[in-house]
Amino acid sequence: MEEETKASAQNTLWIGLACGALAACVTLGGFFFVRERAADSRQEEQNRLLEQAQQEIETLRDENGRLMQELEEWESAQEVMADGKEDSQPEEDDLLRIPFAVDLEDWNYLLVNELHPLAQGYTPELENTRNGQKVDKRIKADLEAMLDAAKEDGMNLLICSSYRTYQKQDSLMDRAIERYRKRGMDYTEAFFQAKKQIALTGTSEHHTGLAVDIVGSNHQSLDSAQADTPEAKWLKEHAREYGFILRYPKEKEEQTMISFESWHFRYVGKQAAVFIEENGLCLEEFLELADKQQKQEEDPA
Ligand SMILES: [Zn+2]
Repeated sequence: MEEETKASAQNTLWIGLACGALAACVTLGGFFFVRERAADSRQEEQNRLLEQAQQEIETLRDENGRLMQELEEWESAQEVMADGKEDSQPEEDDLLRIPFAVDLEDWNYLLVNELHPLAQGYTPELENTRNGQKVDKRIKADLEAMLDAAKEDGMNLLICSSYRTYQKQDSLMDRAIERYRKRGMDYTEAFFQAKKQIALTGTSEHHTGLAVDIVGSNHQSLDSAQADTPEAKWLKEHAREYGFILRYPKEKEEQTMISFESWHFRYVGKQAAVFIEENGLCLEEFLELADKQQKQEEDPA
């Protein structure tokens, strides 16, 4: 009996061991199977991504080719345009030509600015206008004709400054410096502030008798609002017909070295005045153009 029990226990042990081994085999097999399947799907995924990347590279190559072609076409179009320009369009400077003879020595082209002071002892021959303003006698008739025409158009022009002596210019400068000193500036600072509004003696056009400051009699201040008066607008439009130009335009401050003055008119003669105003020049630019043109005519090569 005891033998039988022992044998039965041994059997049970063997069966147990066998079952354990079988379970282990199944588990291990399952593990390797799953691992194999996972490796397969990773490979598939990688292949898919690789294929996708290759397709994208192909698309980019095509796009690149197309862009390169467009660039080439654009470049050759640019070349054609540049050639056309060289053939048919001269430089901007050459486009503008003064259609009449300009003698740079003529009295009406006298240039006076900070870089071109008047010759010492320059004294114009003066004459009084009907309303008692001293001007170079050669501009009197045109100036009076302009005042008459303005009056006929209902304008009330008032000449507030015309010929000025050197002494007068000195005293204007001294007064301006004094005004700035009273505001607390030292002399140097006050001098440079004043110089922005008052030309240094010898560099003012008023010494020539060829320039006049004209305002509307209803607004006599020399300020920015002056430009909006009907008189200033009339002058801007018609002064050229009488040989006068607006000498210090807003957009030419760099060339004239004077701030915009809607009231300062300078006589240059009718032909020149019309040409200067129609082409939006200032006197400095006109004289430079005339000089260049003269040199070209003398030496066309
Ligand atoms: Zn002036």
